[in-house]
Amino acid sequence: MTLLRSDLRPYGTSIFTAMSQLAAQQQAVNLAQGAPDFGPPAALLQAADDAIRRGGHQYSLSIGLPALREAVAADLLRRHHRQVDPETEVTVTAGASEAIWCAAIGLLEPGDEAIVLEPFYEQYPPVVSAAGATVRYVSCDFPDFRLDPQRLTEAFNSRTRLVFLNTPWNPAGRVLHESELALLGELAERYDAYLVSDETYEHLTFDAVAHLPVAGVAACRERTVTISSVSKTFSATGWRVGWAVAPPALTAALRAVKQFVTFAPATPLQLATAAMLRDAPTSGYYDLLRAQYAQRRAVLRDHLERTTLTLAENEGTYFLLGRCPDDDVAYCTDLIRSRGVAAIPASRFYADPGRGRGLVRFAFCKRLDTLRLAGDRLTGGG
Ligand code: GLN
Repeated sequence: MTLLRSDLRPYGTSIFTAMSQLAAQQQAVNLAQGAPDFGPPAALLQAADDAIRRGGHQYSLSIGLPALREAVAADLLRRHHRQVDPETEVTVTAGASEAIWCAAIGLLEPGDEAIVLEPFYEQYPPVVSAAGATVRYVSCDFPDFRLDPQRLTEAFNSRTRLVFLNTPWNPAGRVLHESELALLGELAERYDAYLVSDETYEHLTFDAVAHLPVAGVAACRERTVTISSVSKTFSATGWRVGWAVAPPALTAALRAVKQFVTFAPATPLQLATAAMLRDAPTSGYYDLLRAQYAQRRAVLRDHLERTTLTLAENEGTYFLLGRCPDDDVAYCTDLIRSRGVAAIPASRFYADPGRGRGLVRFAFCKRLDTLRLAGDRLTGGG
């Protein structure tokens, strides 16, 4: 008998948990869950070490340490010429996940609708349900995953309150274009809706494709909650340090929820993140990160191209998405059992799995030797 409330039951167990468990059982190379198998940069570890030794072991302010909020604001100004007030517009959260949760719970009324683009990051639909609202899906199709203006326009109505975006987009591997964002902003304005923009892969774009922050588009600026974290940028998914940047009224709604969730994330890790954000631009860290990821992507892609999968382009994120001729769940089950490689059956990222049938997601946030081992298993005989 399950005690879980009924509207959350259909979501079941996270596919990331399920596939990681299966990978461990089968001793498979885990290219399923998007977590690096290498550590964060030495400068971040040093800063964490210093922070632990120097003190700061009690709660920070619930909205986050001033040092980290100021570092996030300075980083936005430097990279995107965007001026935000760390007092009223920046909130530190326990990873991007908490920011997404707080935005949904703080902004959705029961009966509202929230738009989720397919293929989605798996957290978005359940948080909408948890808020008592309804998800309206806008489906985007393999291989280019363009946002169809007609499908998008038709999804908006007087009950639309939020739109969840992810750019660079996991698992689609693409970056949303200015024209798509301009239409989203225009529709959000017309229906008085807000955009929750998860930009955790903001530094992971390739081949001269630039990440376009959603709040950088004029029509979106006053309606967007921009979310990022240390997880992907600093290879520290276990730190659970993230942040949300939004105009004061949106920030106030999010903070009102946040104080009753985690109160605040780990103080020393906030201090270390602030130091890293301040130093990373001058140390060449971001260029190095991108170059290393481009190499990892090349190694995995080279192997995947020799399989039966048809690959989508990848402009950003650390995922490659392919399509197999048959059922992706069967494909991934067979891959893990007979080849010892775990991937994600990505039809799970569509409300109706039939719309994403055959899609398989591979993470390349792994050491080169891990990727080569997985590649050899994928392309080897037997
Ligand atoms: N963001 C990562 C992914 O998409 C991991 C998410 C998780 O494990 N909760 O794989």
